[in-house]
Amino acid sequence: MATRVITVDRSLKPGIWPLVLGHWETLKNLVRTLILRQASTIEFPEKRRNVSGRYRGIHILTAREDGTPKCVACFMCATVCPAECIYIESGERPEKTIEKYPTRFEIDLLRCVYCGFCVDACPEEAILMSRENDLVGTTREELIIDRDRLMARAKLLDVGTGYHPSEHDVRRPVRIAAIEKLKQERGIGNSRPPRG
Ligand code: SF4
Ligand code: SF4
Repeated sequence: MATRVITVDRSLKPGIWPLVLGHWETLKNLVRTLILRQASTIEFPEKRRNVSGRYRGIHILTAREDGTPKCVACFMCATVCPAECIYIESGERPEKTIEKYPTRFEIDLLRCVYCGFCVDACPEEAILMSRENDLVGTTREELIIDRDRLMARAKLLDVGTGYHPSEHDVRRPVRIAAIEKLKQERGIGNSRPPRG
């Protein structure tokens, strides 16, 4: 919307007319809000605004059908995270096809910059973002969100996901960057580029 510039005539003496105009504006807004119910504000938190499916809200860890984390503790998200706010510890799963899972998975939400790189880097679609960003805590520890709290947030998916892996063209460079950094950190030679 173009900005409207108002030129104020400072030579005008105050009088009754500006007062009448001011009250007229107030009255108009009162009628619009209370009678016509056209308020620009919403009654938060009872009502929420509809936000886009690309909204970068607080993360969700998704689960397999048996309720265990989809995450395979590959460290791609932690490696690519620019704020270095993801902490993972891995354990062995009995299935040969899955191998690992996170015994500990934490995100420090006070450091997170909500860039969505973790979502882009994940090869398992195990980490998504929600459409919700209510962040309240009285200590720093409360805002370090652990694996179980991240998984419990899956109920928020009923209203749809926030930023999620759908843009493969966007995801591929982030994954390649994560793999290159992992290789560098661990002194690993060439490996095949990721799928998708
Ligand atoms: S959204 Fe960005 S900053 Fe936050 S945890 Fe993911 S990669 Fe790190
Ligand atoms: S990138 Fe995905 S699978 Fe790998 S550790 Fe992160 S959440 Fe888990």
